[in-house]
Parts: sequence; structure tokens; C-alpha cells
Amino acid sequence: MLHDDDRELMRAVSGYLRRVNEVSEREAVSTRTPLGDVISEHLGVDASQVPVVVEQIADHRLVDADLALDALGEGDGRLIGVTGGDQRHHQRLSEWITNPHTRYAPGPVDFAERATGPSSSARVVSLGVRLLRFDGVPIALAQRAASPEFGRPAALLEVLSADDAVVTRFLETLRQTMIERSVLRGQVLSFQPTEYGRDAGATFVERPAVAADDIVLGAGVLEEVVQHVIGIGRNSEALQRAGQHLKRGVLMYGPPGTGKTLTVRHLLTETAGVTAVVLTGSSIRFIGAAAEIARTFQPAIVVLEDIDLVAMERHSSPQPLLFEVLDALDGLDGDADVAFIMTTNRVDVLERALAERPGRVDLAVEIPLPAPAERRRLFRRYAQALPFTEDSLTAAAERAEGTTGSFAKELMRRSVLRAIREEREPRDEDLAEELDRLMDARQHLTRAMLGSAGEQDSDLPPDGHHAASFGWFGG
Ligand code: ADP
Repeated sequence: MLHDDDRELMRAVSGYLRRVNEVSEREAVSTRTPLGDVISEHLGVDASQVPVVVEQIADHRLVDADLALDALGEGDGRLIGVTGGDQRHHQRLSEWITNPHTRYAPGPVDFAERATGPSSSARVVSLGVRLLRFDGVPIALAQRAASPEFGRPAALLEVLSADDAVVTRFLETLRQTMIERSVLRGQVLSFQPTEYGRDAGATFVERPAVAADDIVLGAGVLEEVVQHVIGIGRNSEALQRAGQHLKRGVLMYGPPGTGKTLTVRHLLTETAGVTAVVLTGSSIRFIGAAAEIARTFQPAIVVLEDIDLVAMERHSSPQPLLFEVLDALDGLDGDADVAFIMTTNRVDVLERALAERPGRVDLAVEIPLPAPAERRRLFRRYAQALPFTEDSLTAAAERAEGTTGSFAKELMRRSVLRAIREEREPRDEDLAEELDRLMDARQHLTRAMLGSAGEQDSDLPPDGHHAASFGWFGG
């Protein structure tokens, strides 16, 4: 039961609170900046009273966001910049709108160049405010590029509208449009760490051009890989109708210099229009981002080159990054049209991990040291324009036992160099003598670099026929 005194006191307190609110509102308006006034006018309400919705985007998607925002604005959209010194890079949109210290005002827009392909770029807004309408409702949006130097690793959109539901719909449409119009779709991408630390962005790479004829492998080997990677993609609809999964994981293994990378390059050549992400060695740590791109822009290929380097990283037992890779393979839906292609010189290092997580790799293909017949073809291929006789090429190939395709290529280069040094055309002796030098015991390290039998610091059996013992590729 309340006494009259209590009622009196409560009335007094609530009156006081109302006054507190009024004063703070008035002060908010009085510290509103000229930029805040422009935004408020556009929104039709006091911008300082509207909640800001923040959307982070990877900086390599900033171009996509920029294009999508250009497309989404209805009619009389406006783009304004922000003046107010370097502080504007550190302060958020809400601080641009009300600020007791800095009078933020409309000014020139900051732009930055961003790649839109391997040899093209576009100008995108790196700091600015867009005033636009969506579904007829006014929206204000601050857009900024990542600035790792200021501790902001991702690009940022801050969205304001008097109508919360519109903001939600707007952001959904924006994300959708960013995917539909993405400049990443259908491109070959790699990941480079930025100079500021761990974060990395996708960068465009020229699609390779390697014909099947450029590759010398044992009968049926190339066809098997091509069939698995490309054949499944080409028949994706029929396979899906029949309830079959599209996701596939191919492992190519064998000594260095035998043509694994060359084969990958051929696969990328044959899949124009398919989005591909190529991660090599230490950039494999960006597997999460790569898998995300693959899922978003399928059909896609993810290449993980020299995956053993990941498995062998020091202190990494039980190989967390390798497991992360395998989990990324597993994390994608089975009906995702994504092919993972992995290469390794050291399958022995991977065997246990792959056995522990079965089902990730559904085709393991050995790319062994070339047999004598392939070696002869390799020697001929790399001597194509050179005036060596058939006999000397055949003899050299026979003598070069245990060597690889990259060895054949290097041998020809050295033979030509020798002739150039003596200012004459290359001849059979150049080939024979350079082969002698390379096969010389003292050149064992060079040979190892070019990938030859018994030269690696590995315990693989020299004949390389160790595939049959693996249980993890099914069948
Ligand atoms: P890997 O990835 O197996 O270590 P690469 O594919 O990088 O070896 O080979 C290096 C280079 O050696 C190739 O770019 C190519 O010029 C040559 N080469 C190696 N293997 C072959 C092959 N099987 N057929 C044709 N060229 C080859």
C-alpha cells in the first residue's frame, strides 16, 4: 500500500527522468555534425537516434559490394564523402553523425583501385556515404575498404534506416546481388597474405593454357584424372537427378618434377568458366576462405599444392592444419559441384591422416617417375626445336634412368646454353656431355631438385608402386 508521500516522490523522480532525457536529446542534436544533418534529412528522422547495422565483408569482396550497391540504389541515389581529417578513418558512422569534437561534413569521396580480373581493375568507394532508397524507404550507408594498417582487416558497411525490416531485406538483397554479379566468379584465384599479418585476400591469376599434348604420362593416367574432375562436372545435372554426389577429392602423388602441377594446370585450362582457388604450401592455411569461395561460386575447383608441407609443419602433430583441410572437404555438401585437387611429393606423410578421415579423397592417382618409353617422349618433346638426332635422344633417354620431366627440360636448356657459350648451334655432343654432368655423382643435389629416384630425403620405395596398400581411396 503506497502512501501519498511515496506517490509524490515517485512523481517527482519520473518528472526528473523525463527532463534528463529531454536535455540529453537536445544535446545530441546540438552535437550533430553537418554530415549528421544531411543524413538525418535524407532519412527523415534524427540519424543519431537510429541504430546502426554493421556488415563486414572480406576486402576481396569490396568490388562486388560496390557494384551491387551501384545496382541497388533506386533513382536519386547520392554518394558523398566525409571531411574531418584522418580521424574519420578511425571513427564509426555514429561518430560521424554526432560528435562533440569534430564537425564532420560532406566532402569528396575516397576511392581505391581494386582488381576485377587478372588484368583489369575498377575504382571503388573506399570511404564514403551512400544515400539511397530501397523499397521506397531511405537508407544511409557508410562504405569503407579494409585498412589493415589501422587494424581493420575487413571492409565495412554501416547501414542506417528508420525502418529495421527494410535494413534486413536490403542486406539480404545486397548479399545476393554480390554473389550474382561477383567479379570472382569463373576466375582463377590465389591467396596472398597481406603485409600486415595473417589476413589475406583473393588475387586473380591468369588461367593457364596447357594442352593434353603438353603432358607426357603413362597410358590412361591423365584421362583418369580429367574424367574424375571434369567428367563429373560436365554431367552434374544427370548425376544429381540420380541422387549421386558431385563433390570429389583427387590426390596426385609421386616424386617432384613428374608433372603433377602441370596436370593441375591442364585441368584449369579445360575448365574455363569454373571458379578455381589455388593454394600452395603455406597459403593452404586460407583453406576456410577458399572453401567458402568454392561453395559460393560453384562449379568450383580448389587446388591444394604440396599439401605435405602442411602436414609436416613443425610442432603440428597431430597436424591440425591438415585436419582443417580435410574437414573443409567434409564440410561442403555432397551435392556441391566442387572438386578438391591435392598434390604431394610425400604421400607417406599424409597416409595416416587420410586413413583417419576416410572418404575425403575418392581418387588417388600416382604420378610416378616416367618409364623408359615416357622418358623418350619427354626427351623428344623438350628437344622439339633442337637439332639433335633421334639416336642421340634415344641413347640419352635410356641413360637418364630415374629422372623426371623437369630433368628432361633442364637438360635441354643446359645443352643449348653450352652451344650458345661456344657461339654455335647445339649438337649431339652437347646433349651427351651435359647429361654426363647431370648424372655425375656430384650433381646429386641438382638431380634431387629436379626430382629423381633415390635422390629425395624420403623413404618411398624407388619403384614408387606403393599405392595398392592404401585403404582410403575406396574401391
Ligand atoms: P611436380 O608438380 O610433379 O613437382 P611439375 O608439374 O611442376 O612437377 O613439373 C615441372 C616442369 O617439368 C613442368 O612444368 C614441365 O615443364 C616439366 N614436366 C614434368 N613432368 C612432365 C610431364 N609428365 N610431361 C611434360 N612435362 C613435364
